[in-house]
Amino acid sequence: MTSSTHDAVVIGAGPNGLVAANHLADQGWSVLVLEAQPDVGGAVRSDRSVYPEFVHDTFSAFYPLAVASPTIAGFELERHGLRWREAPAVLGHPTPDGEWALLHRDRDVTADLMEKTHPGDGEAWLELCAEWDQVGRHVVGGLMSPFPPVRHGVGLLAKLHRVGGPEFVRTLLTPVDDLARRRFGGRAPHLLLAGNASHADIPMDAAGSGLMGLLLTMLGQTVGFPVPEGGAGRLTEALARRFVDRGGEIRCGAEAVGVDVERGRAVAVRTGDGHRAAAGRAVVATVGASSLYDGLVPTAALPRRVVRGMRNFALDPGTVKVDWALDGPVPWQSAPAYSPGTVHVSDSVAEMTQAFGQVHSGLVPADPFLLVGQMTQADPTRSPTGTESLWAYTHVPQSTVGDAGEEGIRGVWDRDDNERFADRMQARLERLAPGFGSRILARRVLGPREFEARDANLVGGAINGGTAQLHQQLVFRPVPGLGRAETGITNLYLGSASAHPGGGVHGAPGMNAARAAVVHARLRRLTGRARR
Ligand SMILES: Cc1cc2nc3c(=O)[nH]c(=O)nc-3n(C[C@H](O)[C@H](O)[C@H](O)COP(=O)(O)OP(=O)(O)OC[C@H]3O[C@@H](n4cnc5c(N)ncnc54)[C@H](O)[C@@H]3O)c2cc1C
Repeated sequence: MTSSTHDAVVIGAGPNGLVAANHLADQGWSVLVLEAQPDVGGAVRSDRSVYPEFVHDTFSAFYPLAVASPTIAGFELERHGLRWREAPAVLGHPTPDGEWALLHRDRDVTADLMEKTHPGDGEAWLELCAEWDQVGRHVVGGLMSPFPPVRHGVGLLAKLHRVGGPEFVRTLLTPVDDLARRRFGGRAPHLLLAGNASHADIPMDAAGSGLMGLLLTMLGQTVGFPVPEGGAGRLTEALARRFVDRGGEIRCGAEAVGVDVERGRAVAVRTGDGHRAAAGRAVVATVGASSLYDGLVPTAALPRRVVRGMRNFALDPGTVKVDWALDGPVPWQSAPAYSPGTVHVSDSVAEMTQAFGQVHSGLVPADPFLLVGQMTQADPTRSPTGTESLWAYTHVPQSTVGDAGEEGIRGVWDRDDNERFADRMQARLERLAPGFGSRILARRVLGPREFEARDANLVGGAINGGTAQLHQQLVFRPVPGLGRAETGITNLYLGSASAHPGGGVHGAPGMNAARAAVVHARLRRLTGRARR
């Protein structure tokens, strides 16, 4: 066995691991990052294996949360090679009758488009945006801080009277369906808000869906849905480069297989290739909660409430993603007024609700809600001129009882299930864009198993490190009573999407973990001095 010694060992080089590592290196700590895969990035990677000269983002693709995140913005990644690109429109939702609901980067353009289809909605849209201008920074800051978010909570309270006081808090807590109905008469705002709420696995008629819909829609309106020029991997490269420039060390192909705990304190991480990395001040684990608490740490070392709480830990649904290389743009039956980077595909809000209900009752959805990325529209470097690098993903049950569609998909997600379900997804696009199939140069399907093989955190294709529903958020994430990065074991912190505030590329769980490690190390030094 080989060994090394560091101030901190970070497990996992996804965005949260790299954010934590950067912050600790900024404090002058010696930091080792251990990554199981051959490459850094976790769910923020791109590759060229679908078709020559095409870049595809293997998992995540659009980064409004990264741009809005004070943490990631504070790293000034543009100095480390990152360049953001944006599509002419942020988001589009085509309807079967050939119309589009469009979110343009310019709120006045969005409002004009809405006004044309339903008089009054334009003004209502601008009102909603103006309210968000007052409180959005505090809502985002509060969500990204450890619980309770004191500073941003106070900031929000100070601004509330400008946006209607408790009524606005009620808006945030209202299910997205009601929220859209109360404020707008037309279809477009309803589709945009509900589609964005569907990025999380919160039922559309439950509290939390309104906040999610509002958050992503207003971020789209204020910071856009930007993408890194050249591929998602460029965001990771910038984070990794910044860390290494500060003396940090990354070891890829080094799977952590155990965290050594001595007298209630995490002291080292062991890897599958026979290395023991001692951590003098902290171990930051950016693995899934189950992987940390049901594997890496001996159960006997864990507080009882964590062991008990983990029995009820719930994953979010699985995912199937299809990547296409197209020899031309998507041939939408009616072209949108402005070409969007992100596209939502569902005939109606009722159909989104139905697909959601099917997934949650264990059925493979008959008419899946598709999240689509027209990546070359957003960043022309992704594929040769005139072509399109495209993907779509949708959710499937973690445990399948049947197929709500007609093809008898079993939900075992072998090659046969993956390909048949990809055909179902593709047929949805073909209906809205006749001739889509004839533009395909190559197609790749990643099902739940392929997700997990490429990133152990994506358990069963779950993309958010655990359900985002209210019963597992805030102080309930990942188990009741936590809501912070501390684990109950001294020097061990959970910093992945399984920790508060959950999934998305904003780096908040990683930053919360790194900050907690620094604060505890300082406190220990101070109390040590006081004793002497
Ligand atoms: C298909 C898909 C689409 C998404 N789209 C978006 C999007 O457009 N925008 C957005 O903001 N978010 C999106 N997300 C969510 C976002 O990517 C994740 O929430 C985010 O990557 C979580 O970061 P993380 O660092 O916690 O985990 P990950 O990014 O999953 O990284 C974890 C890392 O830890 C490593 N690891 C795991 N176990 C070990 C071990 N034992 N030893 C060593 N290393 C280990 C893994 O290999 C991986 O590299 C998407 C996710 C997926 C899967």
